[in-house]
Amino acid sequence: MRCQQHSKDIVAVCQWCGKQLCKLCIKKTNGKKAYCTQCVGHIGDLVQKKQVEIIKREDELEKKNRPNEYFNFSALKRP
Ligand SMILES: [Zn+2]
Ligand SMILES: [Zn+2]
Repeated sequence: MRCQQHSKDIVAVCQWCGKQLCKLCIKKTNGKKAYCTQCVGHIGDLVQKKQVEIIKREDELEKKNRPNEYFNFSALKRP
């Protein structure tokens, strides 16, 4: 099988979208995993979003676990 874009042999499959990739199509490899040009961008976004979500979630958990402490702390900061 050959890549439609480059007419090269398929050597990998994008781990994100499942597209068949020739060596010219592969934008990034991570160990044995390969990603196409389009998906490298998605992965970058996703990693950043996930990190932000985790930080937000941890922040909320802290507030839930210690609501009084958090409230008092805020009150002290605002005279
Ligand atoms: Zn892809
Ligand atoms: Zn290709």
